[in-house]
Amino acid sequence: MEYLTGAFSSFISNLPEGLQIEGLRYLFGAGSIFLLTWVILAGILANRRIRRPLPAVMRNRQIIREIGNSALSIFVFVFAYSFTEYTLFQLWGTSVFKIYPDVATYGWPYLIFSVVLWTIGLDTYFYWTHRLMHHKKLYHFFHLTHHRSHNPTPFTAYSFAPPEAILIYLFVPLFFTFIPMHDTAFVTAMLVQITRNAIAHCGYELFPKNWTRHPILGVFATVTHHDMHHEKSNGNYGFYFTFWDRIMGTEHLHYHERFDRVTQNNDRNTLAESY
Ligand SMILES: [Zn+2]
Ligand SMILES: [Zn+2]
Repeated sequence: MEYLTGAFSSFISNLPEGLQIEGLRYLFGAGSIFLLTWVILAGILANRRIRRPLPAVMRNRQIIREIGNSALSIFVFVFAYSFTEYTLFQLWGTSVFKIYPDVATYGWPYLIFSVVLWTIGLDTYFYWTHRLMHHKKLYHFFHLTHHRSHNPTPFTAYSFAPPEAILIYLFVPLFFTFIPMHDTAFVTAMLVQITRNAIAHCGYELFPKNWTRHPILGVFATVTHHDMHHEKSNGNYGFYFTFWDRIMGTEHLHYHERFDRVTQNNDRNTLAESY
């Protein structure tokens, strides 16, 4: 009982700052990609639309639902962080975030390497937990909320059910168990994460022609990669990279074709139906 009271009061005290940091990050990431791709560059990107856009009423209703789900996810992130932070402190007197303040502790090469490690680690964690969440016994409880956005928008980025938000958050304490980070590295990794996340859901292919077939660049997942995952509700489970899908044989057979079609064919009638 004492544990629960302590953990809960830690949650209450973390709430204002946590909501502010996570909320601003989401609004900055999803909002700026939305403004850029759906408003400012909408005309230029018209031929790069991967699927036919939703009618305005459906789209607006979806965006409102996604922002609501994302607000709940942010709340859950703070909740999960407060409980793990309190638990670690009670058990071992340590913190979730193994953040070191002085760059000189490990040097600049390590600082940069830690961001790369975070990115590869998160992609690996995401690939396997994502595949797990697609198991028919887990899908409804964990992942259905995210897939309700069949044709996503940048605001789909944090549109999770609470159990999925907790599962995603758990990568943070897992990573910090092994790898310390400088705060600059952590802030960079989180900004890359939200921006890349919003881009993956923006519905416009932003990568240059022939990207997917390039032997090195093709390892980086395109917008079409995750868009196809939302369209088909299976395959293309990776987030930043394509290598796990390629190793495990879960990449969509027509991934290259779809990417080529959206980057090389300007005939808008070839857009796939989205609803
Ligand atoms: Zn999925
Ligand atoms: Zn998604």
